[in-house]
Amino acid sequence: MASNSSDTPRPKLVVFDLDYTLWPFWVDTHVTPPFHKKGGDVFDSFNEKVRAFPEVPDVLQWLHGEGYIIAAASRTGEIRGAKQLVKLFGWEKYFKYAEIYPGCKKKHFSRFRAESGLEYSEMIFFDDEGRNIRDLKEVGVVSVLVPHSGVTRKLVEQGLAQFAKQRRVGVEK
Ligand SMILES: [Mg+2]
Repeated sequence: MASNSSDTPRPKLVVFDLDYTLWPFWVDTHVTPPFHKKGGDVFDSFNEKVRAFPEVPDVLQWLHGEGYIIAAASRTGEIRGAKQLVKLFGWEKYFKYAEIYPGCKKKHFSRFRAESGLEYSEMIFFDDEGRNIRDLKEVGVVSVLVPHSGVTRKLVEQGLAQFAKQRRVGVEK
């Protein structure tokens, strides 16, 4: 059973929801676009500071450095605001794909599959909403429910371990 780390199954594509997964608010209701940057910080149109969950920048940088392809999948109706925040937070360099529009997330993932040529079995998904987790599990994406504390390094490591376990079971069947 024991195997070295190079045999550990790992996803090729890591997909994150945005609202309450990478940042602690709904971009369509809790903050007010357009956003702007001042002194390295991001503010909304009422000059309220807008922050991501604290570990998110490091987590994205780490995954990127490890060679994972990263994508964002959001159902928000505030498409422009969400894209603007991604840009102002400096995350455009991490997200190879971004599907941001309302609707069932199976649609977002069918776009990822078409664009990347990857299969659902090669993807992992982090989202704070049970309905999205259920939808993507249904099509075979390893899907991790994000708690109220948002994405952390520990949560992503647990997710990657879960992926390895599920895929290894799949191989041994
Ligand atoms: Mg969400």
